[in-house]
Amino acid sequence: MTDAGALQRAWARQAQLDAERGVIECRMCRRRSGLDKTLTIWRDGVLVFAVCDRCAGSHDVLRSPTDAGIEVRARRRRPVVLGGSP
Ligand SMILES: [Zn+2]
Repeated sequence: MTDAGALQRAWARQAQLDAERGVIECRMCRRRSGLDKTLTIWRDGVLVFAVCDRCAGSHDVLRSPTDAGIEVRARRRRPVVLGGSP
């Protein structure tokens, strides 16, 4: 099993425990938000992905089912500008 697979399972286990308490850890920014402020993706009763409204608001989250599971890609809507004047 790959490290990525182990990480995913560890995250999913923790996220499901959190979800029972009404919060969930965003897979992208790792911050906990209320379930009502989080977009969650479940597959066969197992949580596979969660992204808070903040991250979902600035990213296009694309889901595509594959043989191995659901592939999730998040792409920033706008480029990040570095070094610009404030
Ligand atoms: Zn987030």
